[in-house]
Amino acid sequence: MKIVVLDGYTLNPGDISWEGLEALGEVTVYDRTPKEEIAARIGDAEVIYTNKTPITRETLDQCTNIRFIGVLATGYNVVDVEAAKEKQIPVANIPTYGTAAVAQFAIALLLELCHHIGEHSDAVKAGEWSSNADWCFWKHPLVELAGKTMGIIGFGRIGQDTAKIAQALGMNILAYDAYKNPLLESETCHYAELDELLAQSDVISLHCPLFPSTEGIINKDTIAKMKDGVMIINDSRGPLIVEEDLRDALNSGKVAGAALDVVSTEPIRMDNPLLGAKNVILTPHIAWAPKESRQRLMDIAVANLKNFVEGKPQNIVNA
Ligand code: NAD
Repeated sequence: MKIVVLDGYTLNPGDISWEGLEALGEVTVYDRTPKEEIAARIGDAEVIYTNKTPITRETLDQCTNIRFIGVLATGYNVVDVEAAKEKQIPVANIPTYGTAAVAQFAIALLLELCHHIGEHSDAVKAGEWSSNADWCFWKHPLVELAGKTMGIIGFGRIGQDTAKIAQALGMNILAYDAYKNPLLESETCHYAELDELLAQSDVISLHCPLFPSTEGIINKDTIAKMKDGVMIINDSRGPLIVEEDLRDALNSGKVAGAALDVVSTEPIRMDNPLLGAKNVILTPHIAWAPKESRQRLMDIAVANLKNFVEGKPQNIVNA
C-alpha cells in the first residue's frame, strides 16, 4: 500500500516518528506540496494524508487509485468531502488531540497580558534593571486575577478545561454556549446569556467553533457592551473577531489588552489591522503544537488508517 503525506512538516518537523504509518505501507513524506504538484506527488498512491494541502474534485478525478484520505487535523475543509463520498473514498479526521494544550495556552496568553514576562525579561537583559534608580520596576500595569470574572464563549472541551485552570487561579466563570449542561455549574461557574457575559467579564476567552452564527461575534457592538478595560483571549479561530473593531477598541483603551493565537488570514498578512494595535500579543497558531499533542495526533492518524484497513473505520467525516 502506497501512502503519501503531502505536508507533514508542521505535524512532524523531525521530533516524532512516522514509524506507525511505515508499519502499514510504503510511505513518502513531503514537508509541503505546492498546488501544481499535488496530483503528480499523489500519483498511484492508495492512501494520502493532508494537513492544509487542498484535495479537490479535480485531484480526485486525476488520482484514481486513492482509497483513503487522512486529514492530519480536526478541521477537514481542505478536502472536497462530497466529491470523495461520491467516489466512495472515506475521509478521516482527528477529532480531539490537544484539549489540554489549547486550554493551557489560553491561560498562558492571559498570564502574559497580566505580567508581560517576556518583555520584562528582555528589559532586564538589556540592562534596564541594573541602571534602574529603584530596586524594581514594571513597564505595564500588573494584574491579579483572583476574584475576577472570566467569560468563556463556547463551553465545550477546551472552554471547560480553560475554566478549571482559571478557577484554580481564583477566578469566577461565566459560560455562554449554544447547549447548556447544568452539571457543569458550580459555586464559581455559571451559564449566562451573551449580553450578561459581555457586561460582567474582566476577561473574555473565545472557545467556540467558527460557524456563520459565531463569525464576527466580537465586533464594535459587542465590544461596546463589555466592561472598560476588558482583556480578550482568542486561541479558537481568527474570524470570530472583526479585527478592525478590536484594533479601534485597543487603541482607545476600551479593551486593555488582547492576546491572540489566531487571525483572520493565516499566516498573518502584514496589513492585518492588529499588527499596529496597542497592547496586543500575537502568536502564530501554536496552541495545538506541544510535542505531546502532536504525538497524540500522529497516533490517531495511524489508528484511523489501521482501523480502515481492518474493516472497522473510525473518525470518518463523510460516511
Ligand atoms: P467543542 O466542540 O468541544 O466545544 C465547542 C463548544 O462551542 C460546544 O460546547 C458548542 O456547543 C459551542 N458552540 C457552538 N456554537 C456556538 C455558538 N453559536 N455560540 C456559543 N457556543 C457555541 O470544541 P473544542 O475541542 O473545545 O474546540 C473549540 C475550538 O478551539 C475549535 O472549534 C477550534 O476552532 C479551536 N482550536 C484551536 C486550536 C489552536 O491551535 N489554536 C487547536 C484546536 C482547536
